[in-house]
Amino acid sequence: MNNTDLQIVPTEYIVIRPPVEGASRSILIPVTGGCSWNRCVFCGTYKGMYGIIQNYAIRPIEDVLKDIDYYKEHNYHGYPVFLAGGNPTSAPTKYLVEIIKYVRKQIKSVPRVSCYAKALDILRKSDDELKQLAEAGLDIIYMGLETGSSKILRIMKKGTNAKSMTKAGKRILKAGIKLSLYVILGLGGKKFSQEHVNETAKILTEINPTIFRFRTLNIVPFSELWNKWKNNEFELLSPIENLKEERDIIANLGHNVTSQVFNDHLSNYCSIETPNIKLDRKMFIKTLDHFINDSRIQNMQRTNLTRM
Ligand code: SF4
Repeated sequence: MNNTDLQIVPTEYIVIRPPVEGASRSILIPVTGGCSWNRCVFCGTYKGMYGIIQNYAIRPIEDVLKDIDYYKEHNYHGYPVFLAGGNPTSAPTKYLVEIIKYVRKQIKSVPRVSCYAKALDILRKSDDELKQLAEAGLDIIYMGLETGSSKILRIMKKGTNAKSMTKAGKRILKAGIKLSLYVILGLGGKKFSQEHVNETAKILTEINPTIFRFRTLNIVPFSELWNKWKNNEFELLSPIENLKEERDIIANLGHNVTSQVFNDHLSNYCSIETPNIKLDRKMFIKTLDHFINDSRIQNMQRTNLTRM
């Protein structure tokens, strides 16, 4: 399939959501479509990997409010709400506050309102604006940290560095919004694996997010990394190397870190989780060591998933 075969889908079409929002059968309300950045080397989400393209846009507020009315009328009370789109926090704060307040008004007993965010969008908002989002009822933000290494972030064209990620993460927490960070195992390839481990442990220690979640790098068509990989300019980690990266990140965390940790993505080679890594760190490392020393995993071939 090439770009000319791809259909451009409208803003209200939801392309992705976090696995946890799928597992909790959350109400998915599209707020933005596409991604205002759309340049990360490893990402094909809005560029065709799902057989479609979605350009960045903010939905008209009337349409979003109509969706919320629909869920009220059809008795979707008591479900979590996920404000969908690659980076809804790129929208003006006033617009977001109105939407979140309307969710809270129309749909009863909503246990959680959440959305994705990009660090630079957070840094464009003042502390007061972040507070307004928290007070309106935004409970949790999912942010792609990917790695704590500024070098790898630059290579991957993430458009931000470790300093900005730290600042954005801390400001979200300070505003009273929970923060869930994604870490991509293998993002530095074999060449920068150690750098990825050291710097990611360092930034997680600095931010101490509410939650961090591992996922494993798979290289998808329509991403820039796909061509680099095909030209042997990037090496995927083996299953055992991914598990070792995770083990070493956990082992290098500072003892202040109290985050919940999850491996809740189908790309992962384990599903270990904890409600508090400070209390469960030894168990976590022991379980990972157990996998790492298992000859079946040592002999496991790496497969690359092209759709997740
Ligand atoms: S990883 Fe996130 S920020 Fe980067 S291009 Fe994809 S959707 Fe946009």
